[in-house]
Amino acid sequence: FADRDGFIWYDGELKPWRECTTHVLTYSLHYGVGCFEGVRAYKTPQGTAIFRLQDHTKRLFNSAKILGMNMPFTPEQISEAQLEVLRANKLESAYLRPMVFYGAEGMGLRADNLKTHLIVAAWTWGSYLGADNMERGIRVKTSSFTRGFANSNMHRAKANGQYINSMLALNEVLRDGYDEAITLDTNGNVAEGSAENIFVVSDGKISTPDLNACLDGITRRTIIQLAADFGIPVVERRITRDEVYIADEVFFTGTAAEVTPVREVDNRTIGNGGRGSITEKLQTAYLKLVKGESGTYPEWLSHT
Ligand code: PMP
Repeated sequence: FADRDGFIWYDGELKPWRECTTHVLTYSLHYGVGCFEGVRAYKTPQGTAIFRLQDHTKRLFNSAKILGMNMPFTPEQISEAQLEVLRANKLESAYLRPMVFYGAEGMGLRADNLKTHLIVAAWTWGSYLGADNMERGIRVKTSSFTRGFANSNMHRAKANGQYINSMLALNEVLRDGYDEAITLDTNGNVAEGSAENIFVVSDGKISTPDLNACLDGITRRTIIQLAADFGIPVVERRITRDEVYIADEVFFTGTAAEVTPVREVDNRTIGNGGRGSITEKLQTAYLKLVKGESGTYPEWLSHT
């Protein structure tokens, strides 16, 4: 992945992809302190546009604030850098990865002599959980790895180190042949996927876990809005594992995963075993919106 053509924005300038290396004593490599975003740009009738760019940039700055990392750039500069990376790499649609990390200026944990570095990379990335699965739905399993305690893991931060937990959860279930994991919080309630938020639909009502043990997903926020526009309110509340088993529909949301139906949880078929009607409605509305085909929420599209 490192050996390819293209440009990455690195500390304020576009550099050739292969030259974007960092030293082995990079602090963030040792301690996992850093934060990042996952952003998507889509081809729209008016050209390429990044979906909810300002919201992603805002979350990146909030993540850095939570971690106490000093940001050497403004949000406007980081938003512009993402548009610049798309243009430089001539990408019509892409996944973008802004990332904030400490350099190799020192090794003590205290991080008082370190510089904050920033990169923005972008590449073409199709359906995260498989194109077929967008209709068919995925098979998920509850992971034995618990999502972190709220006072240990700062869930409002999309922090690099948090992904150890996600990676353990995902790899555990992938090895057993499932497509994704559900993680539970420290009380045993449903938190989220390894890199997605989760929604359940029962008797026409949509619920999603509150933000106590999951990321404040931007797709989650979008789906809550789209559901409200359809006149279906989404309730944010505590959801138990067995509630998911007996739901009519279950789906995951995320920038990478978009809206992915879940057809099976812990070897129990969900609803009719495919994509439910409310899931389909929201998935269609979401994909139209991000591709600029619905004409709604134009303020969420930042054109290159
Ligand atoms: N939870 C976790 C742990 C994630 O990594 C992601 C992906 N960023 C999400 C939820 C979904 O967030 P978003 O919709 O902002 O991509």
